[in-house]
Amino acid sequence: MALQSIQKGRASTPVEPNLIDYDGTCSSFSWERAQKEELDGLPAGGLNIAHEAVDRHAASLRAEHLAIRWLGRKGSSRDLTYGELSQLSNRFANVLRELGVREGDRVFILTGRIPELYVAALGTLKMRCVLCPLFSAFGPEPIQARLSRGEATVLVTTPALYRKKVEAIRSQVSSLRHVLLVAPQSGEPIPEGTMNLGSLMEAARVAYTIPLTDPEAPALLHFTSGTTGLPKGAVHVHQAVLAHHVTGRFALDLHPDDVFWCTADPGWVTGTSYGIISPLSNGVTCIVDEAEFDAERWYSILQDQGVTVWYTAPTAVRMLMRAGPELPKRFDLSRLRLIASVGEPLNPEAVVWGQEVLGLPIHDNWWQTETGGIMIANYASMEIRPGSMGRPLPGVEAAVVRSEEGGSLEVIEEPDVQGELALRSGWPSMFRAYLHDEERYRKCFAGDWYLTGDLARRDADGYFWFVGRADDVIKSAGHLVGPFEVESALMEHPAVAEVGVIGKPDAVVGEVVKAFIALKPGQQPGEDLRLELLGFARKRLGAAVAPKEIDFVKSVPKNRAGKIMRRLLKARELGLPEGDTSTLEDDA
Ligand code: AMP
Repeated sequence: MALQSIQKGRASTPVEPNLIDYDGTCSSFSWERAQKEELDGLPAGGLNIAHEAVDRHAASLRAEHLAIRWLGRKGSSRDLTYGELSQLSNRFANVLRELGVREGDRVFILTGRIPELYVAALGTLKMRCVLCPLFSAFGPEPIQARLSRGEATVLVTTPALYRKKVEAIRSQVSSLRHVLLVAPQSGEPIPEGTMNLGSLMEAARVAYTIPLTDPEAPALLHFTSGTTGLPKGAVHVHQAVLAHHVTGRFALDLHPDDVFWCTADPGWVTGTSYGIISPLSNGVTCIVDEAEFDAERWYSILQDQGVTVWYTAPTAVRMLMRAGPELPKRFDLSRLRLIASVGEPLNPEAVVWGQEVLGLPIHDNWWQTETGGIMIANYASMEIRPGSMGRPLPGVEAAVVRSEEGGSLEVIEEPDVQGELALRSGWPSMFRAYLHDEERYRKCFAGDWYLTGDLARRDADGYFWFVGRADDVIKSAGHLVGPFEVESALMEHPAVAEVGVIGKPDAVVGEVVKAFIALKPGQQPGEDLRLELLGFARKRLGAAVAPKEIDFVKSVPKNRAGKIMRRLLKARELGLPEGDTSTLEDDA
């Protein structure tokens, strides 16, 4: 179904899309040329994300342009121009330098969406340190695992988050040298071993020159979940800014006067690539909302801030759909020009709902932590096929592939055949490593192709359609959750003998995390124990990761190698055929 024509009829769409001739642009596009035309490069040499995102605008007529409008949870707000953001991030870079932090050291930020997060993120990049923002809804265990694996040198956090989530695990992170606390109440004693970031910022110099930065120097570290083992730390380099910038222009259609709202938290890759880097590099105004989802609040932000381009997620769209079609009628959303969504499958009904209720279709796009930026998208100028992720970005080659015996790969040319989604390696924001895990990184590639772990098909017109994940990771409210991380936390409870964790389909959040638990001999299943285990997991893992449902089972199905058969648990949960169970251990 084509929705483009209705979209064209909207009164407030005088803006010509950046990408009009898709096929022509794809055939003539080159990343080298895009870099020359779109980016600045450092005066000192090389390429630095923070320079492209902030300093080049601060040194131009755009210095007074609003870079970030922050909306506080309780009604306060704060505006930062490009000039101010440049100076504040300079100060933060100087704070790091004064502390003796060095190039390549890892700076973690656990603050929630507050202005200091954006300042610290950009200052970290200026210092050529590696930025790792963490989601504030993580509990102490995921935080500790990531700080340790990422060998954090610095942690920027708030007094409340420090006390609740970090203090108890700090001694387990031997690399952590500095904990900088944002905005402790005046007169409030700060915990031992921490420093007041506000005082350090006041004392720091405003002048800072970004040193020569190797475009291949690590810049960003994003943890993502796999099926087994510890979370994987995907490493991105400064060169990624080229993809952030170009995808912002092509897929999000950013124009200089746009007011852009990315609803993702920077603790997840979308909130960094598109909540910070891409929009700033494109010189637009970013809205940052500190609060969590609330349908009425969101519509009033779209109206009051005059949002023109809105980047959100299917779970949020489904929650808005639930809030009903009457609510948005109370708001003037006529400034909105483009709505885009990412992170999980976007139901075709959601695309149509956008058109009918908000007056604009929702443009789905696809990418993942490892790709660093949008790879496949429905563009502003193109026909949307509801349910499809769209077509590959100019400069990106995507294919559906089949692994052959002996490890080689066959690219499936025939349309509408399912296989694994693969991307030809070499785009600028491709991850360059999994931290401390060379083998896992290598396994993601077959020759020239990066294997995404997603199953997809391509239609005859080149649109890609998501089919499912090739592995057991769970997508809940747009966030990847590794079943192993949840199983490991539950195993720490003295009553638990075995755990298997799956994603159970859910109409709003895509999947909810569900755990199947076998108890130790002598332990009685019951409501009290179930609630205790839910609370136990939530305290350790945090709301974003903890299971929402627990079932007790006699034993957890495992294969003869002792591996939990999560697919079987899922099939049983959903009443589906159990498939091949020949490797099932006898007693399960
Ligand atoms: P993450 O690395 O947390 O961003 O998760 C990436 C994964 O989210 C992808 O590999 C897909 O499984 C899923 N995903 C992202 N965007 C889409 C989309 N538009 N449609 C379906 N699944 C998506």
